Formats: sequence, structure tokens, C-alpha cells
Amino acid sequence: MQVYEKIKAGIWSDNGFFHLVDSWVENDGVRNVFKFKLVAVESVSDELAAEEIADRLVERSRIIPTSVKLEVWARDGGKCVTCGATDELHFDHVLPFSKGGTSLKAENVQLLCARHNLSKSAKIQ
Ligand SMILES: [Zn+2]
Repeated sequence: MQVYEKIKAGIWSDNGFFHLVDSWVENDGVRNVFKFKLVAVESVSDELAAEEIADRLVERSRIIPTSVKLEVWARDGGKCVTCGATDELHFDHVLPFSKGGTSLKAENVQLLCARHNLSKSAKIQ
């Protein structure tokens, strides 16, 4: 249970919500680096977390690695790419995972608010 909680704390759920708490720019002497702090809103169910941990054991996973999420978040400025909303954001596959889209490249992932994420999946079906 201890280990399980630890893993869960490090996961940003595709279906969970999180908030941007703080962001700032640091200059490392060469370039400006965008830093940010996110806190997951505690609405992720234990069931969902277990599902994600299982997914992580599969090589081709629909789960987006944290490094890719960080890259996408910085690139999209922590906003929905469609409307600029900054709340209830989701990481969305540009080319859906079910159609062969990868989770491992930032180019195939974008930030969408809950509203646009839902309208997009409605269109695909
Ligand atoms: Zn939106």
C-alpha cells in the first residue's frame, strides 16, 4: 500500500484534473527555462490509478510519460490550445492512440480543456 500510494502521487492522470500553482522563468546562464509547479486535484480514484500502473508495464502505452507532459505543458503555456482556458486541462493525443498515435512524442500531445477534449472525442465517434 505504501508503494502504491507513492506511485500514485507521481502520476498525472489523463482523466484527472490538476491546477497550475506557480510558474516562473529561470535563467541558467544560457537560456530562459520555464519552470512550473502543478498540483493534482485529489479526484483520482484508486481504481484509475491501478489501471494506469498496469498500463505502464506495457511498452506501447497510451499513458503519456511525465517528461512528455512537462514538455507539452511548457510548449502550450499551461493553457487549452483551442480557447486558452487554464482550468480542467487534459493531455490529449493529437492523433488518437487508438489510431496509432504515440504517447511518447510531445508533437502528438496537446493541452485541451475538459470542454474541448470532450467535443473532440465526440467528433471522432
Ligand atoms: Zn478549450
